[in-house]
Amino acid sequence: MLPGTAGSLAVEEVDDPQPGPGELLVDGLAVGVCGTDKEIAGGEYGWAPPGRRRLVLGHESLGRVRQAPDGSGFETGDLVVGVVRRPDPVPCGACAHGAFDMCRNGRYTERGIKQLDGYASGSWCLAPDFAVRLSPDLGNAGVLVEPTSVVAKAWDEIERIGSRSWFEPERVLVTGAGPIGLLAAMLGRQRGLEVHVLDQVRNGPKPGLVADLGATYHCDGFDAAVAGGRPDVVIEATGVAPLVVAAMANTASYGIVCLTGVSTPGRSVSVDAGGLNRSIVLENDVVFGSVNANLRHYGLAADALAAADPAWLARLVSRRVPLESFAEAFESRDGDVKVVLDLQ
Ligand SMILES: [Zn+2]
Ligand SMILES: [Zn+2]
Repeated sequence: MLPGTAGSLAVEEVDDPQPGPGELLVDGLAVGVCGTDKEIAGGEYGWAPPGRRRLVLGHESLGRVRQAPDGSGFETGDLVVGVVRRPDPVPCGACAHGAFDMCRNGRYTERGIKQLDGYASGSWCLAPDFAVRLSPDLGNAGVLVEPTSVVAKAWDEIERIGSRSWFEPERVLVTGAGPIGLLAAMLGRQRGLEVHVLDQVRNGPKPGLVADLGATYHCDGFDAAVAGGRPDVVIEATGVAPLVVAAMANTASYGIVCLTGVSTPGRSVSVDAGGLNRSIVLENDVVFGSVNANLRHYGLAADALAAADPAWLARLVSRRVPLESFAEAFESRDGDVKVVLDLQ
């Protein structure tokens, strides 16, 4: 893939990776494909490593350790996921404290996205500090660890923000039933909360996936989704501007809105900014943005997936595409939830 050049996505032979001192050599099993990958493939996003034109794609990894140095804490055969982001070289204060998901200077790098080759290859190297060992029982569902790490971080932040005062949330609204929304809903149900999920589609796998979590599916717009009561927590996973505004304006008192969807800039909606400010102030509401994840969140994600229903997780992966048919993984098809590229 040549970042910035649409249509340059290709499968190519490259030299076998040579693990550096202390690094693991990992056989790639699968990578998940998400909106970020499609943006990179479309030439709209992504950066090649310095001095090169080509970037290996893939940030939602799953692999099996082929070779692990003594003392690395890993063994041959371990099922692992690689963390996406690496701290910036300065490093900023956040990166210096392992909070590279909160990098302040933007000079972080990301495998498969920003200046580091990704995980969509038959083998890859990985420093043990950025490797997460999974329970072997997780199997193919391990490819969901990276997207789950994003919502594990979101929930962790929600709970930290809530804990600034008395906080016993009951009702959660998740907007968007893509992989991020569904995984956010799953983590809400694991916390014993009443979860509502809003999406547009009436058919396909999403309504059933939501129902089988013990959550309520809504597809008649925002107002209908909150008619039964205003949510204590909203996780916004669409980036659709009117939904973002509706979420901010319709929480219960002491509400928390976590924005995870990346919007397209340049779209205006008319907002009663005074009314919105008034409701946020008078209710002690919080609206915050959340992106990416650090090593601790990957651990939380692996634990959440290990506690989930394996059959439900298997249904979340709605399509598996062999590497030689890679282009099909970048098409959007009816019934898609998470599409995965098989590397073996
Ligand atoms: Zn992704
Ligand atoms: Zn930083």
